[in-house]
Amino acid sequence: MKSEARVVVIGGGVVGASVLYHLTKAGWKDVLLIERGELTCGSTWHAAGGMHTLNGDPNVARLQQYTINLYKELEEISGQSCGLHMPGGIMLAGTRERFDWLKMAKARGRYLGMQLELISADEAARVFPIIDKRHFVGALLDPIEGHVDPYGVTHAYAKAAQIGGAQVVRHTRVTDLKARGDGSWDVITEAGNVHAEHVVNAGGLWAREVGRMVGLELPILAMQHQYLITEDLPALKGQKELLTCIDFEGEIYTRQERGGVLLGTYERAGVPWSPLQTPWDFTQSLLPEDLDRIAPSLEVGFQHFPALGEVGIRKVVNGPFTFAPDGNPLVGPVRGLRNFWVACGVMAGFSQGGGVGLALSQWMVEGDPGADVWAMDVARYGDWATLAYTNAKVRENYSRRFRIRFPNEELAAARPLRTTPVYERLQAEHAVFGDYCGLEHPLWFAASAAQATEDITFHRSNAHPQVAAECQAVREAAGLLEISNYGKFEVTGPGTEEWLSYVMANRVPRVGRIALTPMLNERGKLIGDFTLCRLSAQRVFLICTYAAEEYYRRWFERHAPPPGVTVRPCAMEYVGLSVAGPRSRALLQGLVREDLSGAAFPFLSFRPLDVGMIPALVGRISFTGDLGYEIWVTTEYQRALYDLLVGAGAEQGLKLFGGRALNTMRIEKSFGTWAREYRPIYGPYEAGLGRFVDLKKGEFIGRAAALEERDSGGALRLVTFTVDASDADASGDEPIWHDGKVVGWVTSGAYGHSVRQSLALGYVPAALTNETSGFEIEIIGERRKALRQPVALFDPDGTRMRA
Ligand SMILES: Cc1cc2nc3c(=O)[nH]c(=O)nc-3n(C[C@H](O)[C@H](O)[C@H](O)COP(=O)(O)OP(=O)(O)OC[C@H]3O[C@@H](n4cnc5c(N)ncnc54)[C@H](O)[C@@H]3O)c2cc1C
Repeated sequence: MKSEARVVVIGGGVVGASVLYHLTKAGWKDVLLIERGELTCGSTWHAAGGMHTLNGDPNVARLQQYTINLYKELEEISGQSCGLHMPGGIMLAGTRERFDWLKMAKARGRYLGMQLELISADEAARVFPIIDKRHFVGALLDPIEGHVDPYGVTHAYAKAAQIGGAQVVRHTRVTDLKARGDGSWDVITEAGNVHAEHVVNAGGLWAREVGRMVGLELPILAMQHQYLITEDLPALKGQKELLTCIDFEGEIYTRQERGGVLLGTYERAGVPWSPLQTPWDFTQSLLPEDLDRIAPSLEVGFQHFPALGEVGIRKVVNGPFTFAPDGNPLVGPVRGLRNFWVACGVMAGFSQGGGVGLALSQWMVEGDPGADVWAMDVARYGDWATLAYTNAKVRENYSRRFRIRFPNEELAAARPLRTTPVYERLQAEHAVFGDYCGLEHPLWFAASAAQATEDITFHRSNAHPQVAAECQAVREAAGLLEISNYGKFEVTGPGTEEWLSYVMANRVPRVGRIALTPMLNERGKLIGDFTLCRLSAQRVFLICTYAAEEYYRRWFERHAPPPGVTVRPCAMEYVGLSVAGPRSRALLQGLVREDLSGAAFPFLSFRPLDVGMIPALVGRISFTGDLGYEIWVTTEYQRALYDLLVGAGAEQGLKLFGGRALNTMRIEKSFGTWAREYRPIYGPYEAGLGRFVDLKKGEFIGRAAALEERDSGGALRLVTFTVDASDADASGDEPIWHDGKVVGWVTSGAYGHSVRQSLALGYVPAALTNETSGFEIEIIGERRKALRQPVALFDPDGTRMRA
């Protein structure tokens, strides 16, 4: 084994092998993969090898598409067969709701170029003859589905990488990792040390243990997973290969395996494997079979696929593989560790392995993953994702793998975990809570405790009238919202302004003022939107998206401030309440000594103020787009602040409102938000944030690309639609049609209670910017007329928020 390498990839499963191949493809040849056993000896060797394109996140779906299309190329380069079978796939719906879900999946597939087809139960039985069609209402056909040979794929990656210059060392365990002062690593192995510039943790079942070598507790857990292979089915003899199949109601997937059928389950009673520590001697091993555990799924399976009950079981496989809490991979550089990368938690290695390898290699070589990989970025989890949290969420996610996730559905596991001081008070007011990074936050308020549960549905839920009343209070009187779930940073020290001006696209505001600013990467794409609140010459309070805190911290480390400037995340140190609506000023004025008139404390002011006895930071801004204030206090004051505001608010008609009302009100104002309208695939001018990019202030990250985008206008445009929808609203990812063609996608949607219309925000080609008609938005499989609105629906001139 060589003693120096540019990159050491730890782990020769399908993921590590793919990373190795993609690094060589991207031009890095001095790369070494170290595997403790044989290639595939972790979770890869016993996988069922199934692959498909559909994923809840369209950006992950794109990487899955890439993976599946890669196999032919890989076979050609390596000369190694991947055992590719592409019979196509069928997803069976046993209920109307599932069929609605399939309609939505088909709609989402449109702008990914997927050729999905909805068919009746009769047609399903014709193309997939082993079902009893009485159990189904319809199905979705996908021609790009199939399965591969896990051994073949992994070896094809490894061979192609070796042809490209990589080395592969087997039967050598990495036992430790030691960081050097220059950011490089000493990789300690059983066969000597390797000095590497970069290390990739692709340790699969042992990724947690490899993480621990550098003090990292990755949120990953292995689950036991079983499939069985039947004896040959007479009905399949001489026939063309069966489609791969997902039977959602049975929580079953199947494919043909020689003359029989492979049937796997995602059973509700899923069992974790080695929850604390993965044994190192588990090499090319399986777990004892446990058919009792999957018996409920099998019972349904034998009803739905009667032919399977008529033959015996040839083989049962029970093996572990890893999941992150939300089921998506963990990929990217790890904050706080230089040149340490992860590619783990990949639960669908044969659909995702190629895309993971591509994204990670580009990230390492080019400094950017080259695609929107937010959904699988390791930075989406913070310290709150502990081992036990991960255990609860992974078990939940596993058991729900084939269940419908409704757009308004909140999941129950690991809750409540993080609560703010006013949690019980909000609960007493019948708040229905959502979970955001493990933190409880109010979504809406029910009329009574008995009604404080939301119906999960694709349509408008029982929250609809309550949210309407909350919006009405804000638009006509005053509303109170808990806003603790925002991210916060404090930047202090000499040089604060210069550094912020370099990392943010807008100018840093004057003392006492607020500025909104996008944050761009070098390619001029949106990687954040911040509210900068200037407290003094050397102190700026930043408000942003809490879910992206780790992501921002990693970026701030990469573009580290000069000595003397401190960037401190302080999200949970400051909790907040916001009052908004035309009477919010009168409400707050009664509680502070300072003059809050429009002249004395205008829109975008920010100051420390005492609210009653409570020292607070107060900003005159509200995401509702109305007159409003955000009030930040350290945790111990939040209850007193709440009581004070609620008490004083009675005579102003103050009503509590939650995240649902906030969402509809911000859409009425055409305000975008991170991870929906603002993502690293859009530029600031495309997203309508051009006015917050100050090209005159001097150099900042992404300036050259932003300038280019301003001049060219960009390819896309974020626009607002009113939608002809009376029962269900867009929620995101629906296709936008124009003149009979899919031209874009929805990023957010809701019913706008103040404007009494169904609304959607979404991206369309810039060439359609001036079109108003001819648009349709497909909601639950139905194309609804949509009118592009040239300005925000509510208060387009912003007179209310500036009042
Ligand atoms: C029963 C079953 C069925 C499945 N079916 C499918 C399917 O149909 N489709 C699909 O896409 N996925 C399927 N999967 C999941 C699939 O197996 C995983 O997505 C995939 O194997 C993950 O690959 P990996 O490379 O991340 O991990 P692993 O395969 O676990 O590879 C990690 C490698 O790292 C090595 N390693 C770890 N630590 C060290 C160290 N310190 N030093 C040296 N080497 C180290 C290990 O020896 C191992 O070889 C299935 C899994 C199971 C269990």
